[in-house]
Amino acid sequence: MRFSLLAILMIALGALPASAQTLDARVAETIERLTLAYGGDALTSLSSVSIVSNRRLAWPGQGQTAGFVEFERDRLRKHFDLVREHGSVERWTYQNGNAYHNRYVVDQDGATALDYFDMTATPSERGGFWQWFNVDFRSSDALLAYRLATASLDIEYLGTAHYRGHLQDRIAFEVSTGTQRAIAYVSRRDGLIRRLTMEREIGEVNLLFSMHRRVDGVSYASEVHIYVGDTLTEYDQGLTFTPNRDVGPDIAIEDGFAPPAATVEQSEMTVDAIGGGAFMVGREDYGLFVLDDDGVIAVNAYAGLKDRYEALKEHLGREMPLRSVVVTHHHSDHMDAVGEAIELGATLHLTRQAHAVLEAERKNMDTVSIDVFATDDAVGPLSIHVRGTSHASENAFIYHAASKALFQDDHYHGLVAVGPTRVQPSAMEMYRIIEGLGLDVEFVLSGHARKAETWDAFAAATQGSGAGDPCPSRREICLS
Ligand SMILES: [Zn+2]
Repeated sequence: MRFSLLAILMIALGALPASAQTLDARVAETIERLTLAYGGDALTSLSSVSIVSNRRLAWPGQGQTAGFVEFERDRLRKHFDLVREHGSVERWTYQNGNAYHNRYVVDQDGATALDYFDMTATPSERGGFWQWFNVDFRSSDALLAYRLATASLDIEYLGTAHYRGHLQDRIAFEVSTGTQRAIAYVSRRDGLIRRLTMEREIGEVNLLFSMHRRVDGVSYASEVHIYVGDTLTEYDQGLTFTPNRDVGPDIAIEDGFAPPAATVEQSEMTVDAIGGGAFMVGREDYGLFVLDDDGVIAVNAYAGLKDRYEALKEHLGREMPLRSVVVTHHHSDHMDAVGEAIELGATLHLTRQAHAVLEAERKNMDTVSIDVFATDDAVGPLSIHVRGTSHASENAFIYHAASKALFQDDHYHGLVAVGPTRVQPSAMEMYRIIEGLGLDVEFVLSGHARKAETWDAFAAATQGSGAGDPCPSRREICLS
């Protein structure tokens, strides 16, 4: 007994080469059990796989409301030609009032990103099959089993653990070289993968595979739940897995795609005069700054407020106190600069929801000057209109009469250099709200875009055929 303890210690220290053989044997045993469980020859001779996933993505406190976990629709149609290592992953997702429909294709010509709303194709600089689809293999227990059974991966045996009342062998590996190391739990009892664990900066990520089914001799989990720490971040309770179809037509790129339109250059810090003492300042993300007798009012608390404020003062060639910072809604990206605003001694003007988030997250709020908006309100020369949309149930729309500019976050971004950018469902809602207010708007401004879009161009885009239609492509993924 004493000797074996010593041996274990020496194995742990790597002093006994024999231990490697023992562990290699454990790996081989585990892979053999797993290969059989997932179909044996049916698994190793797979030629293609198609996966349909109608998952739900969580927005903990980042959804339409604060303080709740909301789940949004997120659909995936995946096709992998395992012989040629070609693939296609199509995604349709609806997140906080905005719909996206893309497809990423890796074929003999390389990688291409397709956008079904704009009907644009963009060649991608991001590598080939494994760079694109590594994450898709990690999120399918059957594809993991295929990879483990057929590729010569560097697999480390980590011993056993109990999970869900059963003994599991734990093996660590990279799905492809140089990617996130993952630990799979392979059941001693039936050889199925029930859990995959990864250590990431955001916390421990766990993919839980359950409700296993069998199709054409291959096993797969029809339910997948993903946790980051203790938080359920996504789930799919009806995934389908189809082996050995002819996926060539699904991977091929259809006709009708064009290169994407040129976008506005946003990589350098810029200060643009809007008129009436108003300026748009930023780099990649932007804030509206308005001057009045008492100093400066900043709209949008995106990270980098201090840099924008400094750039404005340098542009104007004088010092002015920052007296107010207006926060448009409760989403964390639009509240990142709250700390900077407090340091600069500004009063925070925000929605009731944003205030609640702030109170939950920050200590020592006693010394901070806070103003919570009424439904219709004012901050200096700005009029504030708090309204609900599918983006957030409380959005502050900010109107500056002297420049006839309307500032808003996340409903519309003027990103395209010539002509309007795509109108999202949330932009359609904003259009109706602002028209209903009867404001005389000449420009619409956004925290995510440098360009001041003319209201006329934006209004015309909302009226364009199909604007706001979540499924103009009429493809199965968004029609059903
Ligand atoms: Zn937002």
